[in-house]
Amino acid sequence: MGLFNFFSNDVAIDLGTANTLIWMKGKGIVLDEPSIVAFDSTTKHIIAIGHEAKAMTGKTHRGIKIIRPLRDGAIADFEITEGMLRAFIRKVSMSWQPARRVVVCVPSGITEVEKRAVRDSCEHAGAKEVHLIAEPMASAIGIGLNVHDPVGNLIVDIGGGTTEIAVIALSGIVSDESIRTAGDEMTESIVQFFRSSNNLRIGDRTAEMLKCQVGSAMPLEEEILIEVKGQDLVHGIPKMIQVSSVDIRKALTKPINEIVQAVLRLLERTPPELAADIFDRGIMLTGGGALLKGLDERLRSETSLPVHVAEDPLLAVVKGTGIVLDNLSEYSNVVIKSSRF
Ligand code: ADP
Ligand code: MG
Repeated sequence: MGLFNFFSNDVAIDLGTANTLIWMKGKGIVLDEPSIVAFDSTTKHIIAIGHEAKAMTGKTHRGIKIIRPLRDGAIADFEITEGMLRAFIRKVSMSWQPARRVVVCVPSGITEVEKRAVRDSCEHAGAKEVHLIAEPMASAIGIGLNVHDPVGNLIVDIGGGTTEIAVIALSGIVSDESIRTAGDEMTESIVQFFRSSNNLRIGDRTAEMLKCQVGSAMPLEEEILIEVKGQDLVHGIPKMIQVSSVDIRKALTKPINEIVQAVLRLLERTPPELAADIFDRGIMLTGGGALLKGLDERLRSETSLPVHVAEDPLLAVVKGTGIVLDNLSEYSNVVIKSSRF
């Protein structure tokens, strides 16, 4: 046993609405896959997870269902979520020794019952010790903020299903806003835009690609023209049109406004001493949505505050969760207390 203890299998997990990342002690990030599951619709037997399940999207028959079990920041199906989490943990665990200690980051809006389900899933995957941490807290730690300081920090984490905005000070979340408008809504708005303005049906993957490549929240120095392929809604045949980044920006107006409004609402609710800190330190953007072109600039112009995009916004949460795993005693006050007993 002594020898095997060398291979510590402790893991930190970012259980995101769009992506799940796993960090392993001594190894760094060992898994980065979409939070997607393909399963048999009658038996609920899991057929594929992650990249493999994503590749099956849109190509399945009636017997197979594909879902993103955390899509809206809540757990849509306990059994499937548990199966996905267990499968991901198993994938990175050395077969002879399951993960012993697990720190999992969960969307801050999930309920007690859902937290319990996440804990149970990790235990069923062999974990002896499970700690949960809220997403904005993990983001803040991941980008190197000292969350224990008596100083306010404003974190805006824009994921797939949810945008989580929080003021953090003294190892706690002072106030927060969580809205179900984030990257998915942006993608959906692009799909809708082509349907209503161009009679063109495009797939989610195309829309997401357009969002990432030419999507923006502020005018670009040089606007971009791009060719988009889809299906003509009137004639049903494949069609290609040219659009500009100006159109894509117009399509993104509503979700972006909603995110801006949520940030402004939280600022209004922030106690003055902390507001003063935020005035000096500014807003930190994390999550994949932080990569949208011009979003930082847009928030700067709306709030008149400094706005910084984290260095690797998609990795902030898993890094923070990893730091908590490595320094559990120092961070014991930021993990979510279990209500199990
Ligand atoms: P979650 O934590 O909810 O799993 P992530 O932080 O992994 O979410 O972010 C995923 C979201 O970020 C997706 O909606 C994805 O489309 C979006 N995203 C990724 N890269 C970009 C980009 N360059 N521009 C805009 N959005 C992006
Ligand atoms: Mg996230």
